[in-house]
Amino acid sequence: MKLLLIGSGGREHALAWALAKSPGLTKLYAAPGNAGIAEIAELTSLNVEDHGAIIDFCHAMDVDLVVIGPEAPLVAGLVDDLEEAGIKAFGPSRAAAQLEGSKAFTKGVCDEAGIPTAGYGRFSDVEAAVAHVRETGAPIVVKADGLAAGKGVVVAMTLEEAEQAVTACFEGSFGAAGAEVVIEEFLEGEEASFFVLSDGTNALALATAQDHKRAHDGDQGPNTGGMGAYSPAPVMTDAVISEVMSRIIEPTIKTLAARGTPFKGVLFAGLMITGDGPKLIEYNTRFGDPECQVLMMRLESDLLDLLLASVEGRLDQATADWREEAALTVVMAAGGYPGSYEKGTEIRGLTAAGKDDVAVFHAGTKRDGDRILANGGRVLGVTALGATVREARERAYAAVKTIDWRDGFCRSDIGWRAIERETEG
Ligand code: AMP
Repeated sequence: MKLLLIGSGGREHALAWALAKSPGLTKLYAAPGNAGIAEIAELTSLNVEDHGAIIDFCHAMDVDLVVIGPEAPLVAGLVDDLEEAGIKAFGPSRAAAQLEGSKAFTKGVCDEAGIPTAGYGRFSDVEAAVAHVRETGAPIVVKADGLAAGKGVVVAMTLEEAEQAVTACFEGSFGAAGAEVVIEEFLEGEEASFFVLSDGTNALALATAQDHKRAHDGDQGPNTGGMGAYSPAPVMTDAVISEVMSRIIEPTIKTLAARGTPFKGVLFAGLMITGDGPKLIEYNTRFGDPECQVLMMRLESDLLDLLLASVEGRLDQATADWREEAALTVVMAAGGYPGSYEKGTEIRGLTAAGKDDVAVFHAGTKRDGDRILANGGRVLGVTALGATVREARERAYAAVKTIDWRDGFCRSDIGWRAIERETEG
């Protein structure tokens, strides 16, 4: 099969790396891709926002399947447009991608299906929102309704912080995403990510992961797209997984199907494992990044077969097999990230770093002749396997040391929570 992969991050490099192992793959194109993806795929400079251009490319190149990595093209309806043109696409329709595109939409699905989640209120004017915050008290969580690239959420520990967040939203800090505000009950517990494939009717559990969103060690500093991840998540025991499937995932798939907007693709549930059991924090409608890197490192099954089973409605006959080992990713970011940072600094030593049980996924790089240059905030995902999270971490950090990139930095404590558990256990 000929495939076109949309995206340019570490997630897409990991997907390309896993797809390249499939005997069914004859040709992989990527738009726009990055320097790491270019080693596996042919890059094309298509404008991803121009659906007509993507359709023309697929027809011209006889592309059999389009795999979409990031959320923006899903919410923009790329899958709908491709299907209308007779081209198979992996991912949800625009209507089903509202599970990620609108927090209020997801809360509506939770209400309809009785899915455990934080209590909430929706507000479109500042006075009512502030009054609600004062009535409820802190800690409390303030969210811009729409897509805000992970930046539209404030977990306010004080009333003052909460009121500031509400005001900032309505004053346009998150653009159109903040025109409506969702205010949520603060959930206490341990967070975990759970990934499922769906074909609209059936749900196939994939694997669990945990990530580190803060920029600095000890989970301090500003929020980022994710500075590291590991899989599996020890807090996600078999009992918790089966509760999440029956109380959260399956009711969601049923509700969307009953509404006539079935969910196909990857459903990524952000969960809080509370004293009262697992509760849904949010849905994403694609793989997480860097979580996708640890998942692909552990996946034994043929990824292309699984994605096709989702597209073609055959997931009831599919299984996903995983390596017993743990996988861990350390993200190397450009100095200054998530604030302003420089692009174009040179990275050396990548070939030596990616061997044995280590893969170096590129998240933001470009090639300049023989040189690899940084081309984003999160630049590399150094990913390793190990018998334990501790061993995977040792291998990942050993590989980080062999990468010569003066401008880069990484956290030194990825996986600390899981390693503490391993030590106690
Ligand atoms: P979201 O974009 O909705 O996943 O929120 C980003 C982060 O904010 C989550 O990963 C949690 O760490 C935190 N968060 C979101 N909602 C809540 C909540 N109701 N209670 C506690 N923490 C939350």
